[in-house]
Amino acid sequence: MIGQSVRLATIRGIQVGVHYSWFLIFFLITFSLTTRFASEHPHWTTVEHYAVAIATSLLFFASILLHELAHSFVALAKGIPVRAITLFVFGGVAQIGREPDRPLTEFQIAIAGPIASALLAVGFWFVSHLAGDQFEHVAALGGWLASINLMLAVFNLVPGFPLDGGRVLRAVLWHVTGSFAKATRIAARSGQIIGYGLIVGGIWTGLVTGNWFSGLWLAFIGWFLRNAAQESVLQMSVRSALSGLVAEDIMARDCPTVSGQLSLAELVQEHILKTGRRCFLVSQNGRLEGLVTLHQVKAIPQERWNDSVVAEAMTPIDRLHAVAPETPITEVLRVMEQHDVNQVPVTQDGRLLGMITRDHLLRVLSANLEMGAHKATPSAP
Ligand SMILES: [Zn+2]
Repeated sequence: MIGQSVRLATIRGIQVGVHYSWFLIFFLITFSLTTRFASEHPHWTTVEHYAVAIATSLLFFASILLHELAHSFVALAKGIPVRAITLFVFGGVAQIGREPDRPLTEFQIAIAGPIASALLAVGFWFVSHLAGDQFEHVAALGGWLASINLMLAVFNLVPGFPLDGGRVLRAVLWHVTGSFAKATRIAARSGQIIGYGLIVGGIWTGLVTGNWFSGLWLAFIGWFLRNAAQESVLQMSVRSALSGLVAEDIMARDCPTVSGQLSLAELVQEHILKTGRRCFLVSQNGRLEGLVTLHQVKAIPQERWNDSVVAEAMTPIDRLHAVAPETPITEVLRVMEQHDVNQVPVTQDGRLLGMITRDHLLRVLSANLEMGAHKATPSAP
């Protein structure tokens, strides 16, 4: 979901990173805090206004990180892997490895974030009160962080998936109906409605109060929420359309094999252009050595095709992400996405059984989705 980001640290195996869009929001928040502190505390120096604003901003993002870490630590405690936490323009996102297998687990992971934010709000409120008039800077910083953390806790509890409150709703619906798919659909529908509500509310805010910055901000969050909710429904339909299918069911068994010593010129002339295939297995003395694709051939300048052999261009066997024949298709899709590859060999005891290409997998998926849609049509004549 989140692309380019700068990695900051690794906490208990979780990569913590910052997306480029975060720098924009950090700048905006620091700037707005500077203006705010300047009007509330006119006797401070400009340097003080900036310093307190920057410290407050940094602690705000530390608060968001703690919110995401709270989700992540509960997930880890339940045996669910967490790959990364990324801070971005709308806050933070933790990439939880898989869906929880019980409603209670889902509930516990979801509620941990808002609880962390609420505790932070209480903590900063105490800091602000203890600092009082003697430590004005700390009091100002703590006061703002207490209210923003309280807002975070409350906003995240709004029952629209994929907000935390939406996940809580899904856990409850899942518990009541016993169906994960149904619970996801209802919670996501609620997320879409809330998303639209925020878009309308944001535009309304802009029109009525003239505060277009807050209005547009709200509208953007709504748009983001609507998209995320829609995507989660799509992902679930993909998962259910492919459920039950394993690698063996859809792999291609007739993979053309070429020798590693074949020149690239020959590969192109004799194999690629004559068959239209884009992917070849490379073997040497009957042993699988790797995989070569049209893409890899094109990466080598054409004038070198006569002097280069297939073995130089291929992905060697140890860098291929092979799967077992009984691997579920959803897992194959995940492997392709995670390693950004278009072909996955299916092997058993080091022996090649077949290949799954992304193209083919997507065709199988679209056929299944179409048939699924027919199955769902009630009382069709
Ligand atoms: Zn959360």
